[in-house]
Amino acid sequence: MPSEFTLIDRYFKRPTPTAVLGVGDDCALLRPTPGTELAVTTDMLVAGTHFYADTDPEDLGWKTLAVNISDIAAMGATPRWATLALALPAVDEAWLAAFAKGLFACAEAFGVALVGGDTTRGPLTFSITLLGEVPIGQALRRGNARAGDEVWVSGTPGMAALGLAHLQGRCALADPTPCLAALHHPQPRVALGLGLRGLASACIDISDGLLADLGHILAQSGLTATLQVEKLPATGVDDALAMECLLAGGDDYELAFTAPVTAHGAIEALGRELALPLRCIGTLGHGNPGTIALLDATGRPLPTARKGYDHFA
Ligand code: ADP
Ligand code: MG
Repeated sequence: MPSEFTLIDRYFKRPTPTAVLGVGDDCALLRPTPGTELAVTTDMLVAGTHFYADTDPEDLGWKTLAVNISDIAAMGATPRWATLALALPAVDEAWLAAFAKGLFACAEAFGVALVGGDTTRGPLTFSITLLGEVPIGQALRRGNARAGDEVWVSGTPGMAALGLAHLQGRCALADPTPCLAALHHPQPRVALGLGLRGLASACIDISDGLLADLGHILAQSGLTATLQVEKLPATGVDDALAMECLLAGGDDYELAFTAPVTAHGAIEALGRELALPLRCIGTLGHGNPGTIALLDATGRPLPTARKGYDHFA
């Protein structure tokens, strides 16, 4: 049985030219770019809660890092350095090799260096802490939205939740491939976050569902939103489950953001440049902070029952 240190060397130690010192000492040493602030985030994935224990380990490696990169993207920051805390019930080298392959594929795709971590025995759990950089004062916060701003969303939220519903037998998709890709291989919107600096007034990544996550912007900005159903992105599946996934499904890691009307044209241009659909789905107003009205094509309000995922609800 290989030792903890052999496993670390074999699977998690790679050259880290963007760090002063990477894996192998008591601490990593990092030199932030002058004129930047550090954006720091941690996300944990627990077997049975966030994924099935039999999920493809290469997908898991990708997703564990991708969900953290998504938080950095939502701040308009550039992802730079990560640490990985790993609890494994037993050593399975084929599993570890595949997990590392997926993790490093994501790290390379987004310019992240793995600079440290911790490896221990325990119920299958991963936690990544990721550091990013953003020019001083330019981060996209949740609390800066203004009444009259427009509400935007990238891509097609709901795809990942539909993929999960398909796996659970709650629906039968004719072609589940794009939904399963969204579920297992999320694409954090780093380029979008960077492009939104100076344009967006507030931004969040959709990890718990569009309504729930937009609700956080509204609560922190003290505003309400009115959304038009016909402007929402269509998942291509037209039924109640698809609508629930779109409004309340987690795990997509698209960005929801707000911006002044004067930025409308520049945001459309950004979407074309990135070849990423950006849709204006509503506007912000005054009222009971955090509330969202959903209007149908005739302007009638629709009920919004389930808002999103909450581990303790
Ligand atoms: P210490 O006991 O000083 O905390 P460890 O023995 O836990 O150090 O780890 C040795 C080195 O390996 C450290 O540099 C640590 O950051 C790194 N490391 C441990 N586990 C991982 C992992 N899963 N991924 C990346 N680096 C790791
Ligand atoms: Mg340690």
